[in-house]
Amino acid sequence: MIIVMRADVVPQDVDAVKDKILELGLEVCEAKGLNYHIIGMIGDTSNVDAESFKTIKGVEKVIHVQEPYKRASRLLHPESSVIHVNGVSIGGEKLAIIAGPCSVESKSQITDIAVEVKKAGADFLRGGAFKPRTSPYSFQGLKEEGLEYLKYAKEITKLPIVVELMSADKLEMYERDVDIIQIGARNMQNFDLLKAVGQTKKPVLLKRGLAATIEEFLTAAEYILAGGNENVILCERGIRTFDTYTRNTLDIGAVPVIKKLSHLPVIVDPSHASGIWWMVEPLAMAAIAAGADGLMIEVHNDPKNALCDGNQSITPENFRRLMKSIKEIARIQNRKI
Ligand code: PEP
Ligand code: MN
Repeated sequence: MIIVMRADVVPQDVDAVKDKILELGLEVCEAKGLNYHIIGMIGDTSNVDAESFKTIKGVEKVIHVQEPYKRASRLLHPESSVIHVNGVSIGGEKLAIIAGPCSVESKSQITDIAVEVKKAGADFLRGGAFKPRTSPYSFQGLKEEGLEYLKYAKEITKLPIVVELMSADKLEMYERDVDIIQIGARNMQNFDLLKAVGQTKKPVLLKRGLAATIEEFLTAAEYILAGGNENVILCERGIRTFDTYTRNTLDIGAVPVIKKLSHLPVIVDPSHASGIWWMVEPLAMAAIAAGADGLMIEVHNDPKNALCDGNQSITPENFRRLMKSIKEIARIQNRKI
């Protein structure tokens, strides 16, 4: 439930509303802007009498939030959120470009790619150290060693690093060493993991589940926000459909829908969405045209011999070309690269 206060509301009236919410055993979530003052009521509001709020001075109207997500909703937070990571922002005028290999394979591999993507204009370096692979016989990542190499590549390039966390027992290590914690598609509804990262202040990049609806996606984000971590970035990475030509189907429509429903930044991963390297550039362009706040792109210096996702990885040369193409689209969208 949302209480919309009048523009000329005085602090005492706001306090009266907040006190009443707290008395009901619910949580208060407040958003103020130049032309609005909103007080959200978080918790089980099924037995709350909306009429009793309407009589408080300064209350303009009471709105029921039907959706299961509240803190992620734009109704409670009309302004778009901007997440700050080591001096780089996600969700502002500038697009956030995350690039790097699917997996860290060696110190030289990750460092060479990091140098290349940095030169081309990337803002973040990605690289998997602990990999969620469909088959237990596939390369599972270099684990701690991979993280060490990522830290080295960060030291060389100064690019903040984005790394997937698969299990909460590694959280302390990630809090110390990683700049953005990625929660992969397969873990989008791993609620214990979501609760764990909700307890930190580290930015979390949450990928959409393989067959998750937009509502399920936003409700998964709600778990992280409910824990007190407001630094959530959403990533559309394709969903499973009946088509088999591509690895997944990029739900480009999810971008404007999520931007409408939520204040959280949305980025697109055209690499996992398509699974095919030559589709990455056109889909990246479409994502920016649809209003995405950034991209996650898999780049490999030797895609044919990559230990993971080589088919969808683009070369540093093609990444440079992609950056040029999206620059054009960004200009039309009044965004910067
Ligand atoms: C990845 O980013 O390498 C990855 C495994 O992505 P997803 O969780 O979207 O499949
Ligand atoms: Mn991958």
